[in-house]
Amino acid sequence: MRSFTYARAATAQDALDACTGETRYLGGGTNLVDLMRLGVETPGKLVDVTRLPHDAIEHRPDGGVLIGAAVRNSDLAADPGVRERFPVLSEALLAGASGQIRNQATVGGNLLQRTRCAYFQDVSKPCNKRAPGSGCPAIEGEHHNLAVLGASPSCVATHPSDMAVALSLLDARVRVRRRDGEDVVALDSLYRDPGDDPSRDTTLDPGDLITGVEIPGPAGMPAKYRKVRERASFAFALVSVAGGIDVRDGRIHDSRIALGGVAHRPWRARRAEDVLRGAPATEESLRRAAATELERAEPLRDNGYKVSLAANLIVAVLGDLIGGRS
Ligand SMILES: Cc1cc2nc3c(=O)[nH]c(=O)nc-3n(C[C@H](O)[C@H](O)[C@H](O)COP(=O)(O)OP(=O)(O)OC[C@H]3O[C@@H](n4cnc5c(N)ncnc54)[C@H](O)[C@@H]3O)c2cc1C
Ligand code: SF4
Repeated sequence: MRSFTYARAATAQDALDACTGETRYLGGGTNLVDLMRLGVETPGKLVDVTRLPHDAIEHRPDGGVLIGAAVRNSDLAADPGVRERFPVLSEALLAGASGQIRNQATVGGNLLQRTRCAYFQDVSKPCNKRAPGSGCPAIEGEHHNLAVLGASPSCVATHPSDMAVALSLLDARVRVRRRDGEDVVALDSLYRDPGDDPSRDTTLDPGDLITGVEIPGPAGMPAKYRKVRERASFAFALVSVAGGIDVRDGRIHDSRIALGGVAHRPWRARRAEDVLRGAPATEESLRRAAATELERAEPLRDNGYKVSLAANLIVAVLGDLIGGRS
C-alpha cells in the first residue's frame, strides 16, 4: 500500500481546505481502505470526516428527515422515527453487508462506495473505470452479476448500495458542500450512467463533501424492500426492488419503484410507475408495468436472468403491498 498522511477534520471547511490533490475523504473506511489495500485507490492523504458535526438524524415537523453524512448505517437502520415513517430505508440498510460493517459504515461513504465488479478490483486487469481507455473485459468475461439497464460499451458495472435504492424511492436529496458553496442534489441526479466515461460514478467534483441526505415528508405510501442475493449475508444484490404503492378504490393512485443490482446507479423505474398510475390494482397491471420498464434491458451472455428476476420481484413486492402483506 502506498504511504499516505492522515488528518481529522473538525469542520466542513477544514475538510474542504485539507482536500488538495490526491486526497480522499475517509468515512468508515469499509470500502476505501479495502480498495487501498488492493492498490485500486492510492491517495496521498486521507481526511477523516467522521468527526464532523454531521452525525444527527433530525425528524422534521412536516414528516421529513435530515440525516447527517457521518451517521452510521446501523444507527440509521435502528432509528425509531426512520423505522416508523420510512421502514423501507431501514429494511434496505439491514439487507446490506453485516452488523459489524454497518456499525462502521457511514451514510456518505455508503452513497459513494465503488462497484464490486471483479475487474475493477484487480489492478492486473484492464478496466475503463479504473484505468480509462484500457477496455472492459467484463463484457466478454465474467458479468453474471453486472448491469442490464443503462450500461454502455465502455462499462457494465452495477452500483452496490442497497441504501441508495431506498433513497431513490423516497425522492431523497443529497446535501453537498462545494468549494464555491452549498448545493442540494436530487439523488437521481447524483449518480450517472457510465456513457463513454465510466471513471466517474457521480456528478460530484473532486473535493465535494457530502454533508447529509434529506428525505421529504410526509412519508406517503407504504413501501418495502426486497433483495435477491447469492447468500444470506455479506452479499450484494443480484437484483433488489424498493417498491411503494397507493391503492384507492381498487385502482393504483400512485406508485414508486427503484431497482438495485441492475444498473450503474439506483434505477428509478419511472416508465413502470407511469403505466401503473390509474391502472386497476391487479397482477396483470403489475406485470405490464414491469415488462414496460424492462423492455429497455440489454442483457449480456450470462445475466439475462436479471430481466425476468427484476420483473418477478417488482410484481411480488407490489403484489404483497396490495394484498396487505408486509
Ligand atoms: C464484505 C462486505 C459486504 C458488503 N455488503 C454490502 C451490501 O450488501 N450492500 C451494501 O449496500 N453495501 C455493502 N457493503 C458496503 C458497505 O456498505 C460500504 O463499504 C460502506 O457503506 C461504505 O461506507 P464507509 O463510511 O465505510 O465509506 P468509506 O469506505 O470511508 O468511503 C467510501 C467512499 O466515499 C467517500 N466518502 C466518504 N464519506 C464522504 C463524504 N462525507 N463526502 C464525500 N465523500 C465521502 C470516500 O472518499 C470513498 O471514496 C459491503 C462491504 C463489505 C466490506
Ligand atoms: S464493467 Fe466497468 S468496472 Fe467492470 S471491467 Fe468493465 S469498465 Fe471496469
